[in-house]
Amino acid sequence: VIRCRAAVAWAVGKPLSVEEVEVAPPKAGEVRIKIVATGICRTDDHILEGCFPNVDFPVIPGHEGAGIVESVGEGVISVKPGDKVIPISLPHCGECSFCLNPESNYCLKSHLSEPQNLLPDKTSRFTCRGKQIHHFLWVSTFAEYTVILECAVAKIDAAAPLDKVCLLGCGFSTGYGAAINTAKARPHVVQVKPGSTCAIFGVGGVGLSVVMGCKAAGASRIIAVDINKDKFAKAKELGATDCISPQDFKKPIQEVLTEMTGHGVDYSFEVIGHADTMTAALASCNMNTGVCVMVGVPASGSVISIDPMLLLSGRTWKGTLLGGWKMRDSIPKLVSSYLEKKFNSDLLITHTLPIAKVNEGFELLRAGK
Ligand code: NAD
Ligand code: ZN
Ligand code: ZN
Repeated sequence: VIRCRAAVAWAVGKPLSVEEVEVAPPKAGEVRIKIVATGICRTDDHILEGCFPNVDFPVIPGHEGAGIVESVGEGVISVKPGDKVIPISLPHCGECSFCLNPESNYCLKSHLSEPQNLLPDKTSRFTCRGKQIHHFLWVSTFAEYTVILECAVAKIDAAAPLDKVCLLGCGFSTGYGAAINTAKARPHVVQVKPGSTCAIFGVGGVGLSVVMGCKAAGASRIIAVDINKDKFAKAKELGATDCISPQDFKKPIQEVLTEMTGHGVDYSFEVIGHADTMTAALASCNMNTGVCVMVGVPASGSVISIDPMLLLSGRTWKGTLLGGWKMRDSIPKLVSSYLEKKFNSDLLITHTLPIAKVNEGFELLRAGK
């Protein structure tokens, strides 16, 4: 058993509490990882607000981390102590019908098929003050050590800077992949075509990664839509050609975008997680061949009602988890591309804080900083 620090969420609406926790050794098929760095994704905030489905408290959040394998359980062969790894929040067993399907990007044996936040054997490897603490997405990177399934670990290049590539564990890969995932035989994934027009609703960490993906795909016009104008300078630096705030217009933003582009954008991305911006994003893409991609996570229990004509005329509406990548195979390749400077995800890093200041990190996120 390792004793170390972790940020524990004891109850909905309470700040995280940095505590000493006990981390049990990995069981068969599991890996214990020393987490070196982790990003804060808005999804972690959804848990603290109590609007992420199927999360029991107390829980250790965090799912955008990078670390070093400390020890492995019986039967683990794909990684060994000392390997640099990125934990992935969508496991990939490699054997089920979803894993074997080249069009699918996650496993049937995941917390999505069986929504609960203990490990698959219904136990936890974390305890704190004598209480069992739940895992999050079977990953929990807000801990100095965590235990996860071998099938949710991607081994990466030993040269990778862990404090930078941790962002590939969720935010960057999600946004970039949502736009650029051009792997063949993946029709559910958007492949932004060169010369096309795109609108990105919400340019936080994930939305900015969509901007980068649209630019890399050769889009000719990339319109960032956000109510926080402080985000616009970075969006422009990363490739946005126009930046607009819905609050500057009297008419609905979908009408503004339709006028700006003649008949609506070719691709729209919702990267906020609100039902109203999801419908606005749908209505912003052109009525026939437009594609709208849902990336933002809606609050559990959200319901959307739309005019069915929006879809009848030909639009496509789809969603993506983690940008459509089969993460266990794709993460090592994305890390290699990062090392070859094919993209610069470092530009997404705004602040670096020690774990003791994790709540300050959330305050900065909520303040739009
Ligand atoms: P973030 O908070 O950094 O960014 C959200 C942005 O949306 C902010 O810039 C904010 O100003 C803007 N915004 C809020 N309300 C708006 C409105 N009404 N109109 C226009 N802009 C508005 O969050 P993030 O970390 O970039 O995550 C974005 C969303 O993506 C979250 O819902 C998160 O849970 C989700 N997410 C989904 C996946 C996935 O696999 N699908 C992965 C990661 C994150
Ligand atoms: Zn995330
Ligand atoms: Zn599987």
